[in-house]
Amino acid sequence: MMDMPKILVVGSFVKDLIVSTPRFPNAGETVLGNSFQTASGGKGANQAIQAARLGAHVTMVGKVGDDVYGREMISSCLECGIDCSRVMMDDKAPSSIGNVQLQIGQDGKTQNRIIVVPGANMAIQKEDIRFLETEIANYDMVLLQLEIPMEINELVAEYAYQKNVPVMLNSAPSAQISDCLISKLTYISPNEYEAADLTGIRIHRNGQNVNEKDVKAVIHSLIERGAQNVLITLGSMGAAFGNKKEFYLCPAVKNVSAVDPTGAGDSFVGAFCTLVSMGIDYERAVSIANYVGALTVSHMGAQPSLPSLEQVKALIHERDDDVLLGLQKAAV
Ligand code: ADP
Repeated sequence: MMDMPKILVVGSFVKDLIVSTPRFPNAGETVLGNSFQTASGGKGANQAIQAARLGAHVTMVGKVGDDVYGREMISSCLECGIDCSRVMMDDKAPSSIGNVQLQIGQDGKTQNRIIVVPGANMAIQKEDIRFLETEIANYDMVLLQLEIPMEINELVAEYAYQKNVPVMLNSAPSAQISDCLISKLTYISPNEYEAADLTGIRIHRNGQNVNEKDVKAVIHSLIERGAQNVLITLGSMGAAFGNKKEFYLCPAVKNVSAVDPTGAGDSFVGAFCTLVSMGIDYERAVSIANYVGALTVSHMGAQPSLPSLEQVKALIHERDDDVLLGLQKAAV
């Protein structure tokens, strides 16, 4: 068995506080809701958990508040075997929370309204991560997102670049990124909407297909700005990968009963990084990550729906043995 990759995630923790209600209140109004639940999330923690569920050795660096939510979110990561010894607790800022309102109408239609308060995620300071300048060399891959200060992502990407450690930026949520940061990245992964915000190019659909020309134009535009490899997730259309030499448009897994899209992008990116670090080629890594994303959308919630390696293998086995062959080859 090959050594499983060591992945460093520098990113966010968010505790979702979810209420469901028959209708949203108007300004100044109070309504009685139906239910309340909490769920641990945050793009950084979700991606770390996905990589760990696929067998990677994962270290998480981030910040929570010194509060019950912070402790719960660290516990969720520890339960998945993630090294949280570098997760910090801020004594002033509270843990980040996502206030999620779900309106479940009489017709069964669901709408959501979400307010995220970044709290401790945005309290990460440059001094907090200076230790990575040397320690980053111990990892096979670094994984970043945009829910922590941009200057922290820029510094970590610079450290990784200096030590030749591949670095992936999942450029979500949407934000403008400097060409300097893009040029330090080995991989950049926006979804189609974030890609449109970054490049000004909208990816059109022709019936059941995405317009390949638009996808190639987005990839070209990001490569022109210095990106080495571009990975675009396309929801139920799958994903595309491109660099100066290669281009793959890999369709999503068919006949998936999609019940909740939360966490799909996180699971896809966490999986892609793990698979590529295991030595799996790009085309196969995208195809397998499509299975991981498909499993995530077919279950409720973010972290509970992130699949294990066994679940992914079982679905691939059910649908397409050829992809499984690649996974087994790389794993022995
Ligand atoms: P994000 O959550 O960042 O918007 P996407 O919606 O693009 O990400 O989804 C990420 C991945 O999840 C897709 O590339 C695809 O592999 C998978 N996926 C998403 N929706 C579906 C679906 N309805 N059926 C099958 N796979 C899906």
